[in-house]
Amino acid sequence: MESQSLVAFDLLILAWFAYLGGAVGSFSNVVACRLPMGESIIWPGSRCPRCLTPIRWHDNVPILGWFLIRGRCRACQTPVPARYVWVEILFAGMFDVFYWTDIRMSGGRIPLEFLIHPSVSALTLFTQHVLLMSSLMIMALIRADRLPVPTSFITSVAFGLIVLRLATGVGWASFIDTTLGFVSGLLAILAVDALLERTPFARWSRWEVGRADLSGLFLVGIALGTRILLLVIFLMLIMAVTLTLIQKQRYLAWGLAFITFVSIILSVT
Ligand SMILES: [Zn+2]
Repeated sequence: MESQSLVAFDLLILAWFAYLGGAVGSFSNVVACRLPMGESIIWPGSRCPRCLTPIRWHDNVPILGWFLIRGRCRACQTPVPARYVWVEILFAGMFDVFYWTDIRMSGGRIPLEFLIHPSVSALTLFTQHVLLMSSLMIMALIRADRLPVPTSFITSVAFGLIVLRLATGVGWASFIDTTLGFVSGLLAILAVDALLERTPFARWSRWEVGRADLSGLFLVGIALGTRILLLVIFLMLIMAVTLTLIQKQRYLAWGLAFITFVSIILSVT
């Protein structure tokens, strides 16, 4: 194949993964809004939170939809927060990055390699990474609304991550690695909690550790294993101090998502 058509193929697939990411981001917005309220995340479909008018399918296109309706509900003119479109853009970018690092780089030099010779391990790794990051971002959104993250959400994601992690490797080594990640996730929660809540450092840093932050670390441990978890905790402590110094603690949940993202990229490239 000529190099020009290779580039065209690459762009096409990147656009498709960006679209997929935008759609997952759109769904994550819905999950973050409805989950803390105990509402169903599947039914009813997307609708205006104020006048309950269903959103038309052609306005529900990820990212573009928000611009089509000019950031307002078509029926009642209530502004749709820009946060929705920002989340969709973040998800679109994230899907592209993980497609590139987990699938494209691992497979081969041909853009459609993963369709011709599907690599189960590459696809599983991709799914694992997007599940972890999507969950961390949903938790950050819920935290931004100052609402609690339901335990059922954490346990469901944890279960999914354990299954995916066992699937990425074969045999006992993978099982032991998953178990260690699981245990170190738990230990990390206890250690960080003790460090930040029950020591003088706690009063100095005034870091209000939410259960969501600790659950986030737990999920990181399960998904990525002990080594990366320690890196994430180390970076998170530095960030917690920095955010405290500049009085921006409320960005901690987003900080965990960002640090985890960077740590994954560092570990796979
Ligand atoms: Zn409306």
